[in-house]
Amino acid sequence: MTAEVIVDIAHGEVDRIFEYRAIDGVCEGSRVKVPFGNRVVDGFVMRLKRNSDFDAAKLKSILSVVDEVPALCAECLSLAEQISVRYRCPKALVLRLFLPGEMRKGAVRELYKTYVLLKDGAFEPAARAKAQAAALAFLRENGKYGYTELCGRFGRSAVGALVEKGAAELTKERVIRSPYVAVSGAGAEHTLTAGQKSAVESIGRSDKTVQLLHGVTGSGKTEIYLTLIADQLQKGKSAIFLVPEISLTPQMLSQLRARFGPQAAILHSGLSAGERFDEWWRLRTGEAKIAVGARSAVFAPVENIGVIILDEEHDGSYFSESNPRYSTLEIAKMRAEYNGCKLVAGSATPSVETYLKATQGEYNLIRLPERINRKPMPEIAIADMRREVRRGNNSAFSAALREELAECLEQKKQAILFLNRRGYAQSVVCRECGYVAKCEACDVSLTYHSEENCLKCHYCGAQYRMLSACPECGGVHLSYTGTGTQKIVGELKKMFPSARILRMDNDTTSGKEGHYKILKQFADRKADILVGTQMIAKGHDFPAVTLVGILDADMSLHFSDYRSGERTFQLITQVAGRSGRAEEQGKVVLQTYDPENYILRFAIRYDYEGFFRHEISLRKSTAFPPFAKIVRVMVTASEDADALEALRAVYFALKEIYEAHREDFLFFNKMKSPIKKIQNKFRYQVLMRVKNDALLPEIYEKALACPVRGALVYIEENPANLS
Ligand code: ADP
Ligand code: ZN
Repeated sequence: MTAEVIVDIAHGEVDRIFEYRAIDGVCEGSRVKVPFGNRVVDGFVMRLKRNSDFDAAKLKSILSVVDEVPALCAECLSLAEQISVRYRCPKALVLRLFLPGEMRKGAVRELYKTYVLLKDGAFEPAARAKAQAAALAFLRENGKYGYTELCGRFGRSAVGALVEKGAAELTKERVIRSPYVAVSGAGAEHTLTAGQKSAVESIGRSDKTVQLLHGVTGSGKTEIYLTLIADQLQKGKSAIFLVPEISLTPQMLSQLRARFGPQAAILHSGLSAGERFDEWWRLRTGEAKIAVGARSAVFAPVENIGVIILDEEHDGSYFSESNPRYSTLEIAKMRAEYNGCKLVAGSATPSVETYLKATQGEYNLIRLPERINRKPMPEIAIADMRREVRRGNNSAFSAALREELAECLEQKKQAILFLNRRGYAQSVVCRECGYVAKCEACDVSLTYHSEENCLKCHYCGAQYRMLSACPECGGVHLSYTGTGTQKIVGELKKMFPSARILRMDNDTTSGKEGHYKILKQFADRKADILVGTQMIAKGHDFPAVTLVGILDADMSLHFSDYRSGERTFQLITQVAGRSGRAEEQGKVVLQTYDPENYILRFAIRYDYEGFFRHEISLRKSTAFPPFAKIVRVMVTASEDADALEALRAVYFALKEIYEAHREDFLFFNKMKSPIKKIQNKFRYQVLMRVKNDALLPEIYEKALACPVRGALVYIEENPANLS
């Protein structure tokens, strides 16, 4: 047999099939060691065939097979081909997405534990061997026991003697490292409401692959997902459950545990290498059937998929920011089509693009317009911050929010305060000369962090000592502009000295299960107020929260990005949705300097339809996505000159396409990126707005074929972040 192998080297020049003679145990999808040039490298067997086009005698042989079970299933192999073509990405790079990173590097392996097993019940140790007798008695009582633990109790020599004399034997067993062991299964299975039932039925009846579940926050979407998954498990199928980012809600986890026990496996970057490997392995071998995780879990090694869930469909984290820059929805669709199953995307605020497709009949649209038990949506009150300033209130809190907070605390309820900026102050400015403290490696201002008393760059993570004077003019009057979460916590402590406050942002959630620990504390009522960035907006269900404060609703409106209106609407709706989810009616205070803004007006009425109609006609008249595609070809390099030279090459190559298809381009130009430098890499871009998707393959082809010494070129479609 001949094996067609892709070698695990992410380079365009070796991105093709190499043939090797197969050895025993090689299957399609196996990882193998092969000779390559004068080295030995890892490779993936894409296909086995009887004959080779080459002289069989000259073919080199595969050296060894790496894993017991082929790492990649048939679907993964076919998917890898598809993704590699779609995103013009070397196959090796795509195949890597399907494996835990540490497994590829050989840095993680199965964990085994040695046990002592009672063998010969009749054996009696000599009278003076007291330790042996004790160990034996203990074993008789407990049966199997850990070797290390038994030695700890009775001594290594006693245990050794028992084994030597045949009274006991050692066995090795695979240990599965499980994440979130502290999460117990809780959360009752609900009888579906009429609305939930008809949603499940509509999904079952529909002949469309993509199902859009548009349900307001608290409408019981999770219960629908769990029902769909349970139905598929019963048919012997598996499922993928995608959630945004790693801040899985404790509720979601415990619900999954309660319903599915160890059949659910969790995949995400916050796990230890061993845990990730073991969870992956449980899925690959079919022991676990449900893959739960953030975007990368779309590559989970499950076969025979019955349903794929994409919760909070609109979330920006579903777009990959490294090569291949895939859209999770797109990959999930490929997998659903391969398996002939449904992809259920859910959101209270679907992305404009997805919703348009649903209204046009490409996706099946299911609406859940009401909360469970017809609970009203929380009332959103606007606090006009301009008026607060006129009244002399320069704090981050309006009078209205302060009053609501006081009442909430008095009634022993919980509050969530949302601000999308971490740290203490966004920037430090010299009041005398206007100097702004900037990162040396990035073209961005530094954020002041009060707890560590330092300046941090939020792009590269660099830390700088706090300035005592301006390095330009020596002035000592430095001012802090822009409020961050640390400053909010400081102000809160002054206003409500006895309130217990938790902060959740990138600075407080590092470490294993960091998100989970904070959310758990809040869920257990160990705090009264949770202050956080957008990571607190997502899907959490805290029944005791009756107040939500949105401290600066305008922040995302000011981005010069076509999606800023959409994002603001989504954020307000999502954050507001955390309030009043149980018996108590919830309230929301939304602080803004722009109270007449139409996006805010739609948001406070929960008028998604109105927002959508307005937004989509705006996009249509200005020819922005989904009526055109924004394509950004990024060029970055350590040397400014290299970046510029590469930019020119890319620009002129693409210009040929532009010249030949002018009518398909709404915009075409080269420029510096809005942030000119990140992590010492200079950044330039060719920016395009293209009406015709058919040009994409040519754009990829031309841009990536340019000779670009010392520079990196990559392509983004409708990038979530245009900085
Ligand atoms: P969503 O994901 O749509 O925001 P959830 O799935 O979190 O909403 O549901 C909101 C609340 O309603 C949860 O506390 C959940 O336990 C509860 N719930 C869901 N379905 C039912 C049902 N059929 N009967 C009673 N309570 C339900
Ligand atoms: Zn930096």
